[in-house]
Amino acid sequence: MTNTVKTTAIVLKSSKHTADASRLLLLFSPEKGLFSAVIRGVEKPKAKLASASQPFCFGEFMLAERNGYYTVIDCYIYDSFYTLAGNLDSYVLSSAMLEVVSKLAVPEDANVELFTLLLNSLKVVAYEKAEPTAVAIKFLKESLVLSGFGLDLATCDVCRQKLTDDEEVGLVYVGSGAVCEKHKGKVEHVDLSYEEWQTLHAIDQTKLAEISHLKFYSREALTSCLSLMLKQFYYRTGEKLISLEKYF
Ligand SMILES: [Zn+2]
Repeated sequence: MTNTVKTTAIVLKSSKHTADASRLLLLFSPEKGLFSAVIRGVEKPKAKLASASQPFCFGEFMLAERNGYYTVIDCYIYDSFYTLAGNLDSYVLSSAMLEVVSKLAVPEDANVELFTLLLNSLKVVAYEKAEPTAVAIKFLKESLVLSGFGLDLATCDVCRQKLTDDEEVGLVYVGSGAVCEKHKGKVEHVDLSYEEWQTLHAIDQTKLAEISHLKFYSREALTSCLSLMLKQFYYRTGEKLISLEKYF
């Protein structure tokens, strides 16, 4: 028995498939969560669905479902995010965001918030020229929170007081995320430089939609904040990101 299913989704990954000219897609849908689907004939020249088989493709997918296996039969593309390919940083970091979702999302489990976060993050990088490193930092933090791995950069792990801009903050891995100057002696932590904390705190306190207005101290501080957030991701989830292996 074949059923037809229609769902909004974004292509997280596209890999070779054993069948001729087909590809295997890993898709993420707000209603269905993570799922795989075969898309046929897309490696033939002038294939009608070729664009729908590319990572970042966001659209309405028509699927044929048989015994739990999906085949893409049509796709109405809302956005392919082609502009992301025009800048190496944007492309690499946006690809990392797709990979993060492939590790955090759960099959057949609705996750509208994670879907919205991914889509809005891709949009600010592609169309608002937001600093892709800053967006990746924000994305890592928010996706960890949404997926239940915690991470709180606003309050101290020990005293729960609000952290301010002008103190020497430490990052903690076992615990909520950050420790104030006074309580650093109580927990194992990594010291942040003044610039690193200013950068991380500003990104954490700013809404995604306003992140393109932020000004940053230096590229070095941004890069080291991303590296710190990736360590938080690796530590908390036990997952590595292949798309960033060459860079971090
Ligand atoms: Zn404290």
